[in-house]
Amino acid sequence: MTELDCLVIGAGPAGSCAALRLLQLGYRVGLVERASFPRDQIGEALTPGIRNITALLQADEALTDLPHVAGRPSLLRWEQDALLPIPHTDTAVVSRADFDARLLALAASRGARLWQPAQVLAIEGQPEAWRVQVVEPATGTVSQVAARWLFEATGRHGAARTRWACAPNLAALWAEFDATQVDPECLAATRVEALPDAWLWAAPLPGGRLRIIVFADPHAVGGQPQSLWHRALTSSRSLQSLADLAPAQPLRVCSAAPYLDTAAWRHGRVKIGDAAFALDPISGSGVEKAMRFSLQAAVAWHTWSDATDEAGRSLAEQYFSQQLIQTCARHVSWCAAHYARAWSATNDFWRARSTPPRPRAASAVPTPDEPAAAFFAALAAAQSPEPPPAHLDRWPATTRVRLDSACQLVPQLCVVQDRVCAAPALTNPRLPRAVAFVADQALAPHWPLLHREQTLGELHDALAHAMRPEAAGAVMTWLQRSGVLVQAA
Ligand SMILES: Cc1cc2nc3c(=O)[nH]c(=O)nc-3n(C[C@H](O)[C@H](O)[C@H](O)COP(=O)(O)OP(=O)(O)OC[C@H]3O[C@@H](n4cnc5c(N)ncnc54)[C@H](O)[C@@H]3O)c2cc1C
Repeated sequence: MTELDCLVIGAGPAGSCAALRLLQLGYRVGLVERASFPRDQIGEALTPGIRNITALLQADEALTDLPHVAGRPSLLRWEQDALLPIPHTDTAVVSRADFDARLLALAASRGARLWQPAQVLAIEGQPEAWRVQVVEPATGTVSQVAARWLFEATGRHGAARTRWACAPNLAALWAEFDATQVDPECLAATRVEALPDAWLWAAPLPGGRLRIIVFADPHAVGGQPQSLWHRALTSSRSLQSLADLAPAQPLRVCSAAPYLDTAAWRHGRVKIGDAAFALDPISGSGVEKAMRFSLQAAVAWHTWSDATDEAGRSLAEQYFSQQLIQTCARHVSWCAAHYARAWSATNDFWRARSTPPRPRAASAVPTPDEPAAAFFAALAAAQSPEPPPAHLDRWPATTRVRLDSACQLVPQLCVVQDRVCAAPALTNPRLPRAVAFVADQALAPHWPLLHREQTLGELHDALAHAMRPEAAGAVMTWLQRSGVLVQAA
């Protein structure tokens, strides 16, 4: 019997990221991956936010010479029906096969017990005492594993009755062209184009191939992906020449449907990454969000594992659910606004995606899969009007200031020293979310100081007495820029 604290099932970015974080937190970790690596995987454009995550995981060295394409110009056809250059983006296109394999190898080199290729045959038991059977088909070896917690990171494949469609369904058609088949112009830039009834992404991959993905309504794909592909490329501003050309490999179709799993948390057994939620690929941030949520799930487990009472365990669950719901709600809200800005936004495909979902009317047939009202509350918060412009003017030090009268302290879930706790945080209608810390400084202990009417100079001096000078400067700047500090009448 192999004894572990945590068993992670699935070793995509979410699973390996969770394993690496759990190892950092001192747990005995196992990973079961059913595919041999390197394996084929879509989703190669990585957003710059991933760098913070790999830095936290101390994974940068393992990724240093990862083949990638970066620094190419980007061309966008979105708000206008014309292909326009966009300011430099920091997105890198990597080989996902390599990226995933390196993260997994790093987790194994740091002590994660790895079964690959392998599958879970059976799971029995209860939280803190799971018994899992893992089979390695190549040898027929069956391992018995005891684990306290299970992390399911098996991606979007597999059916889950508890998945709730938080945005309209989407299908992806994709193919690659060899560098020899295409005009070098096509390989010189990343392109994103809004088309009349679909959108496309085209970019050179490390190795020189051009990948094109067309995203459309699954009904439009129907049984004839080839004709949609042809229509999409013909209506493109830059890739028409490829419409009649056979790609280097057959056209492939997969689901790109956004969803949220309403049962991602079960005591002792949680879902992470695409097993818990999938985002509309328009933001290109699926991998980053999957990895970030793995970090949050690891902290939830760390909190749960350490808790001495039900209240402590409940904080872990609340934090997990809150992060899941807020990630999806903010993304759904952002996507709807982004779709609404497209030049073709009056067409059906675009109109459907420009409207965020609404809660069912009370009279409607209730469905067990409808997420908690929390999703719609988070969606409403994400859609609330932009805060007024920050005070970018420089007030003289003699200006009399005070906190805006709508400021309040409310308990908010925060992570302090890798554990979830409820800490008082400052709320104000001008803030997109409650803020407990600025520059690593808790705001609540300074509440009396912040709350009194005084000159800017007095406030700065008082903060500089209470904390490091750089932190005092950062808090002052935040107070002014966020708009919560106002001039006293
Ligand atoms: C068409 C499309 C384009 C996308 N483009 C982008 C993009 O450009 N940028 C971006 O950031 N995101 C993109 N995404 C999203 C991105 O691909 C996913 O968010 C990301 O792969 C999620 O990572 P994951 O680890 O949760 O799942 P996956 O990457 O799917 O990994 C799951 C792993 O679990 C393994 N597994 C599955 N079942 C089992 C089992 N029963 N036992 C053991 N192992 C199992 C699989 O073999 C796999 O290795 C795109 C998505 C789609 C659909």
